[in-house]
Amino acid sequence: MRPASHLLWEVAGKPPCPKRVRPCPGGTCCVCGEPCDEGVTVKDHFGANFTDHNMLRDFSSGFVCVPCAWVMSGRGTSGFRLWSVICRTDRELPPSHEKADKLGPHIQLTTRGDLSAAVELLLDPPDSEWVISIAISGQKHVVPYAWANRGSTWTVRMEGIDVVSDSVTFARVLFHAASLRSLGFTADEILSGVPSVHRITAEIFPLWTYHADALRRHRGGALLDLALVCITKERIDEYRDAAKTTLERFGVDLALPRLFAGHDAIREHGAHPSARVVGASESGHRDRSGGRDIRGDGCGGGEASLHREFHEGHRQLDLFA
Ligand SMILES: [Zn+2]
Repeated sequence: MRPASHLLWEVAGKPPCPKRVRPCPGGTCCVCGEPCDEGVTVKDHFGANFTDHNMLRDFSSGFVCVPCAWVMSGRGTSGFRLWSVICRTDRELPPSHEKADKLGPHIQLTTRGDLSAAVELLLDPPDSEWVISIAISGQKHVVPYAWANRGSTWTVRMEGIDVVSDSVTFARVLFHAASLRSLGFTADEILSGVPSVHRITAEIFPLWTYHADALRRHRGGALLDLALVCITKERIDEYRDAAKTTLERFGVDLALPRLFAGHDAIREHGAHPSARVVGASESGHRDRSGGRDIRGDGCGGGEASLHREFHEGHRQLDLFA
C-alpha cells in the first residue's frame, strides 16, 4: 500500500506544487513517511498553525513531499479538506460536487450525503488501486493519512481513524444495518443496540433481534460507523440489496429469521385490522346505526383469517420480496 496522496497526485496529472519546492536528497516526507528527494520545508508548508503533529509519520523530517503538499493545499471548497474523496483507476466515477475542484473522471470529491460511489467500491473493489477517505467535520485533513488499496481487503480513512476491513465483512454489516434502517430504526438505536420501545411490535421484534444480533460484535467498532455514515435515507433499500448481492457472490448464506405468517398480512393490509374498520366509514356508520356488530362483517372475517394464520405455525419470511 502506498499513501493515497501519491495515487491522487498521479491520477490528477501531477499538478504543480502550490509552494516552493527545495531539494532534499535521501530525505523522507514527514506526513506520509515515504522517501522524497524534493519537497516543501515544514516551515513553509505548515506555518505556525499546524496542530496535527501526532498524525505525522516521520517527525524527524523537515520536508513534505509534493503529493502531500498538494493534497493539503487549498481553502474552503478548493482542495480536499471539505470533501469525501473517492478514486478508482479502472473506470470513471460520477462527477464531483459542483463546488469542488475538478480533478478528472477518476477522482470524485463528494459530500458525506452522497457516498454511493464509495459503497459500490467498498462492496466490489477492483484489483487496481483505489482510495476512499471520508470527511465528517470538513475541518481536518483526512486524505494525507489515507492509503491506496488494491482488491477487497482494505483500509479506508474516515475522519481521524483507519477502518480496516474487507468487502464481505462490510457487506454483512451494511446489509444488517440497512435492513434495520428500512424497518425504521435510527442510527443511534443500531449503534446502541437498544431500540425505542414504541418501535418494537410482535412482528418487528424477531427482525430486530436477527439483525441486531448479527451486528453485536461490530457495535462500538469503526466498520458499523462507516456503514451508518454511508447509509442515507434515500438509498437504504438500494444499499441493502447491493450488500445482499455481494454476500451472494461470496457464497454467504443469510439464515433468515422465522416469523409469524401474520407479519405479511399486516404489512399488506395496514397497521392493524381495526384500522380498516375505522377506515370503512360508510359501511361502518350504517352498521352502527343499524345496531349490528361491525366485527361480524367482512372486516371481522379478515381478522379471523389473520388469527388463523398466526396459529398455523411459522414459515420463512422472505425479507427481500
Ligand atoms: Zn508525503
